[in-house]
Amino acid sequence: MIVAANLKTNLTRKQTKEYIETLDDFVKTNHINQESFVFPATSSLDSYDTDVTIGAQNAYPVQNGAFTGEIGVEHLDEFGLKTILIGHSERRHILGETQDVILQKFNYFKELGYTIVYCVGEPLEKREAGVAEMMDYINAQYRGIDTSYERLIIAYEPVWAIGTGLTPTNEDIIAIHRELKKKSPAPLLYGGSVKVNNAKEIMALQNVDGVLVGSAALKVEDFCQMVTFA
Ligand code: 13P
Repeated sequence: MIVAANLKTNLTRKQTKEYIETLDDFVKTNHINQESFVFPATSSLDSYDTDVTIGAQNAYPVQNGAFTGEIGVEHLDEFGLKTILIGHSERRHILGETQDVILQKFNYFKELGYTIVYCVGEPLEKREAGVAEMMDYINAQYRGIDTSYERLIIAYEPVWAIGTGLTPTNEDIIAIHRELKKKSPAPLLYGGSVKVNNAKEIMALQNVDGVLVGSAALKVEDFCQMVTFA
C-alpha cells in the first residue's frame, strides 16, 4: 500500500518542514513500513532528512536552460529527489499540458530512472457519456506511456472527484481499477476526495494499491492517520 500526499500550492517551506518532520516521527514511532510519499510545492522542496519519499509535483524535462518559471533536473538533483508526479489533472486542465508534453516529460524522467506517479482520470462529461467514451478518454491519457516501466505508479483520479467531496461508488472504483490493471501491472492508486473517513474503505477495495490525497492531507495529523490504514 502506498499513501501519498499531494500538497499542491499549499504549505510554505517552514510549514512543509514541520509537516515532514511530524510525519517522519510518526512513521518511525509507530514502526510503519508502508511507503508514504509527500509532494510539496516546488519552492518547499529541500533535502529533508526522512524515510518518507519526497517527490516533485512538476519539473521541466531539461537539466537547466531558458524555461522561465520552471525548474529542471539540476534543481531536483540538488535535493537528491528521484520521484515526480506527471499528468496530474490540474496540469492537464488548468496549466494546459497536452498529452504530447506529458509524454515528453514521462520519457525524459523515465530515462533518468525516476519513480513516476502518473495520473489519469476523466472529467464529468466523459463519465456521463458512458463507459465506452470514458474509457476512450482515459486510453488517450495512456498514449505513448511505457506501462511496463518498473518505477511507474499510476493514480486514477477522476477530475470531478478532485476537491469536490464526491467519490465514485466502491463498485465504480473496483470496475475502473480492474480495467486499468489490464493496461499496466504498476501499482494503482485512487485519488479524488479521499478523506480520513473513507480512506480505509477505499484502500481495501480490489486492485486499489493505495491513495493519492490532496486537501485531506494538508493536516499532517489526518495524513498520519491515513498512513496507518495502509
Ligand atoms: P483532493 O484529495 O483534494 O480531492 O485532491 C486529489 C488530488 O488531486 C491528489 O492529487
